[in-house]
Amino acid sequence: MVSLTFYGGVDEIGGNKVLLEDGDTKVFFDFGQSFTMGRDFFTGWLSPRGINGLGDYFEFGLLPKLKGLYAKEQLQFTDIPYVKPRFDAVFLSHAHFDHVSHIQFLDPEIPVYLGVGTKLFLEAMEKTSSFCSYGEHRYQTFRTGNEIRVGNIVVEPVHVDHSIPAAYGFLLHTSEGMIVYTGDLRAHGPRKDMTEEFAERASQSEPVAIVCEGTRMVEKEKRKNYSERQVEKLSEKVVSSTDKIVFVTRYSRDMDRFRSFYDVAKSNDRKIVVSPKTAHLLGRLVDDRRLDLPDPLKDEDILVYYKRKRSGCFDDKDYYVWERDFMDKDKMVTYKFVHENQSGLIMDLDFYQFAELIDIKPDSGSHFIHSMSEPFSEEDIEDQVMRNWLDHFNMKPPHQFHASGHMNRQEITDLIKYVNPKRIFPIHTENQKLFKKNFKNVQTTDYGRKYRL
Ligand SMILES: [Zn+2]
Repeated sequence: MVSLTFYGGVDEIGGNKVLLEDGDTKVFFDFGQSFTMGRDFFTGWLSPRGINGLGDYFEFGLLPKLKGLYAKEQLQFTDIPYVKPRFDAVFLSHAHFDHVSHIQFLDPEIPVYLGVGTKLFLEAMEKTSSFCSYGEHRYQTFRTGNEIRVGNIVVEPVHVDHSIPAAYGFLLHTSEGMIVYTGDLRAHGPRKDMTEEFAERASQSEPVAIVCEGTRMVEKEKRKNYSERQVEKLSEKVVSSTDKIVFVTRYSRDMDRFRSFYDVAKSNDRKIVVSPKTAHLLGRLVDDRRLDLPDPLKDEDILVYYKRKRSGCFDDKDYYVWERDFMDKDKMVTYKFVHENQSGLIMDLDFYQFAELIDIKPDSGSHFIHSMSEPFSEEDIEDQVMRNWLDHFNMKPPHQFHASGHMNRQEITDLIKYVNPKRIFPIHTENQKLFKKNFKNVQTTDYGRKYRL
């Protein structure tokens, strides 16, 4: 018997936890945390206690109570007894939080399969963030073209284009036929050829089912979205028409976006200024030659910004060991350098680092590109605070240039038609009904219910 059970990503964006069973083989695809997990009980600094392991999560039903899945110490204060692993593997489609975060609770004996690039991402994130720990795992890396047998199932990862490098969809050979798992994907990014390749392979496999993401499966899209190429073109226009500094806020793991601004900087004889965190991440991703990213240690167009610490003298002892790699005098810049060289720079500046503007003192009329999703509502507090800062420093109102990591409604519909599966399981969406409206063979999913193939 082959079945699918959904323990996350049901009527929500992210948090995918898809269990595939084939006879006595049990494999999870993704093990993430949804963006809204636990929001009825936790907010701001009120969050689950690390010292209680899974206890605080089970209290509110935030993770499934399954035996043989979790690490011993995570179960210590719960009513679930520890038993040896009853699950054979977990496969991760890509390194976004909503697909990987909950692997921190897994039994370290359960192998975790992931792309070569995804492993580099996880390692960089653990190193550079004090809140981030994924726990110990037996990691096994894969690339497109590999076929991985786990019990009765063979998993074939195929690369897709998404807003993070090293993203994959999976073709799952089971005893009841092929199941396609899309992960997250888009058709308008710089590597749309990879998504096309995935779609083609999926279609050839004549699948009995598709588990399909539907982030942008909505009646009418409210937010402005461009293609990555358009984001680059619009940014080019801003940068080439000013001699002021241009600040950029983007998702820190979106390396396509990094590359867009890096290219814009180069074509305008500017240098790009990044944080030590971004420099560290780039330095790690260089190890995966296929990602073809610039080496922050060797590339003259990348500078690394060091925040002023209490001593004020930029002594290496004031910084974490991993931060010190770029403190050599050609690489490291401070607020003084940025202030004095404004016309020659594009600077990555995360919203939460806006206080640096107080030191940098940008010239009146400087530019800011908000290269992330637009806020959901007009009363968004962070959006208002961002605008107040820009006003305060006499900077122009933000330019809103963003390309989504996901297919839109039409593209999802086209993909499903092309793949032509016997059944459709919508996931990673708030709008299962819309799938149902568009297709006859949709199996809407309920949390924790087992669907036989
Ligand atoms: Zn994603």
